[in-house]
Amino acid sequence: MNTFEQFEKHESGIRSYCRSFPVIFKQARGAELITADGKSYIDFLAGAGTLNYGHNHPVLKKALIEYLENDGLTHGLDMYSSAKESFLESFHRIVLEPRGLGDYVVQFSGPTGANSVEAALKLARKVTGRSNIISFTNGFHGCTVGALAATGNQHHRGAAGVPLTDVSRMPYANYFGDKVNTISMMDKLLSDPSSGVDKPAAVIVEVVQGEGGLNAASSDWMRKLEKVCRKHEMLLIVDDIQAGCGRTGTFFSFEEMGIKPDIITLSKSLSGFGLPFAVVVMRRELDQWEPGEHNGTFRGNNHAFVTATAALEHFWTSTEFADSVKAKGALIRERMQKIVRRHGPDSLFVKGRGMMIGISCPDGETAAAICAEAFENGLVIETSGNHSQVVKCLCPLIISEEQINKAMDILDAAFAKVMAAGAQHKAS
Ligand SMILES: *Cc1c(COP(=O)(O)O)cnc(C)c1O
Repeated sequence: MNTFEQFEKHESGIRSYCRSFPVIFKQARGAELITADGKSYIDFLAGAGTLNYGHNHPVLKKALIEYLENDGLTHGLDMYSSAKESFLESFHRIVLEPRGLGDYVVQFSGPTGANSVEAALKLARKVTGRSNIISFTNGFHGCTVGALAATGNQHHRGAAGVPLTDVSRMPYANYFGDKVNTISMMDKLLSDPSSGVDKPAAVIVEVVQGEGGLNAASSDWMRKLEKVCRKHEMLLIVDDIQAGCGRTGTFFSFEEMGIKPDIITLSKSLSGFGLPFAVVVMRRELDQWEPGEHNGTFRGNNHAFVTATAALEHFWTSTEFADSVKAKGALIRERMQKIVRRHGPDSLFVKGRGMMIGISCPDGETAAAICAEAFENGLVIETSGNHSQVVKCLCPLIISEEQINKAMDILDAAFAKVMAAGAQHKAS
């Protein structure tokens, strides 16, 4: 009997991650995934950055169970609820206020990242009266049409079925190597009335490109980008959906860079529990929405409010957690550099920042073979990048050092096997 009969017979061919990891998962705890037949895997995918606090974190789970047992509201459109009140209070006190963003307001968009990107782009266009948006090469912002127009990936863009318009693409930091200043290039195009680039409403940018291959912008590049935005009166939207919520070692990926985005999108790990939840955080003056003008049935997921609040209170009221992310990021980097030195000093290199790092391989086939080999040995790990060439380590931030070392041993062995096979293939 085919073990995957129900999925293969009844689910759309759109399914994708399950093709890389053909097992049926039943339980998950912390950084561990467990299949229906009891096999355990270390999770270096973590919901593509949705499970920063791991699976079923006990503190968050307890808060949610208590809330359910007390018949707390599950759905309430955008009505006031006690759970939303607590979230707004905690998010303001713990995240926004200490980071100099105390006067920013929060919009609850629909519950996905793409929903918050759509809302952010729509708002920027409404406020400025301009339609063009600047986004960057290899950027990923979601798969709904507005967000997809800002996304670079051809595989996703090809499925749009309509023209993807009103976005001008600019080269991301280091797109042409570290000698070419892509910000000067952008400034020149925007300053030239005959360049053909219409004055944009906003620039949307990821500080570390999650799907685009862990390209990381420097503080200097981000500060120059902010300056160009001010000069040309474009809003700066930071899409922190994947790099935010602690992934790079700080709550926001940009907060040690000395910049102040006009609009920030957050989703993925915001609920902390894997529940759908997204927000647009904006400067108060930009909040020019009419009541209900941008709508959605699932704006504000009360269960997500509960777990998000518990996550903020548990992880972000001291520096202990952020410090541990920095330390673990350094450990993973060190282990990766060892892998590079051992198995491909000329063809492999480490990319990314904080706990959003990976190893770039010569091509997508090599990276895929490494991930498949790692999966055989108990590690769930995926690729990203313009040619899917980057083996991406996106483990839960709460992972133990022991689990990191075990996962890196598996990865080391996978690189050893695949890189040796590649060298043999070349020689023959
Ligand atoms: C995942 C992601 C999105 C889209 O979020 P969805 O919930 O999949 O719609 C947007 N931007 C970035 C940077 C992302 O990583």
